[in-house]
Amino acid sequence: MATMTTAIDNTHKTPFGSLTVNGFAAENDLHDLQFKLANHLQTTLDVNHTLTVFFNNIAQLFTVESLGFEDTVNTPIMLGQVQKHTVTYNVASNNNKLGILKLTRKKPFLEGELAVLETLIGVLFYPLRNALLYRKALQLSMRDPLTGIGNRQAMENCFEREIKLALRHDNPLSLAIIDIDHFKKMNDTHGHLSGDKVIKHIVHSVKDALRETDQTFRFGGEEFVILLHNTHQEHAKLTAERIRMMIALSPVDIGNEQVHSTVSIGITSLKANDTTNSFLKRADDALYKAKEAGRNRVMHG
Ligand code: GH3
Ligand code: MG
Ligand code: MG
Repeated sequence: MATMTTAIDNTHKTPFGSLTVNGFAAENDLHDLQFKLANHLQTTLDVNHTLTVFFNNIAQLFTVESLGFEDTVNTPIMLGQVQKHTVTYNVASNNNKLGILKLTRKKPFLEGELAVLETLIGVLFYPLRNALLYRKALQLSMRDPLTGIGNRQAMENCFEREIKLALRHDNPLSLAIIDIDHFKKMNDTHGHLSGDKVIKHIVHSVKDALRETDQTFRFGGEEFVILLHNTHQEHAKLTAERIRMMIALSPVDIGNEQVHSTVSIGITSLKANDTTNSFLKRADDALYKAKEAGRNRVMHG
């Protein structure tokens, strides 16, 4: 099997057949190790778990005190305690760069160990690639393709976490549900594509009005949810008002004309025994009141 790794700061190479690491790893032993590792790596599609399995497997062969993995997009992963001596590998095949793998320990790495490592990184390559692809697919499936903001699934994941945190630390947390007014009529009058433009424009306005763009989600067709951290009801009301006004005052260019749209917003703040559902329901009830009261307004519940 062609090696999938390129050593960056280590040029030691030992011919495959003459491996000795503290007495073990004749070629047959190495095949056993590869087989065992491949089996263990098959049990997961999670990036963190894949690297943990790899780390635990090599730690049974020789001392390795930390493992780090870094790609250009995601938060680096670090397992164990970083020590003085490092080996770094660019985990890549010809045209597929997965990332940089770093292993450290107190004592220098031995040549024979590096050779075993390179072989085992070869075993890691495909499971790690699959786990990275799976993570990417999951990340993409959490985004709404039209607007690029999180979808309902992303919202639910985020809410669960944020509600727990806010209750545990006794931090205020508020929520706004935004619904475009008479949007069906907008579609009927100007066409669905123009409707899509309006949706994008509104998400843009919401992002402009907020600092934390990541906390905006597409809840449904023309409904959006914003989670406002460390925010009491009074402040949430001001933020929602700012959003409402920005939208009402900025028309959307749909080619040959400019169309105005408005939104209604329901807000609420977290209470001690709230769940995701009860929290959302209160904001939704407030939104309903805003619609009933004539639209283009903010109500709280
Ligand atoms: P209200 O003021 O009571 O909210 O009235 P409304 O017309 O906005 O509400 P209704 O729920 O009757 O209609 C929502 C419309 O939003 C209907 C649906 O076709 C449209 N819609 C939902 N998702 C999309 C989308 O992705 N693109 C476009 N263009 N329209 C969408
Ligand atoms: Mg609606
Ligand atoms: Mg609507």
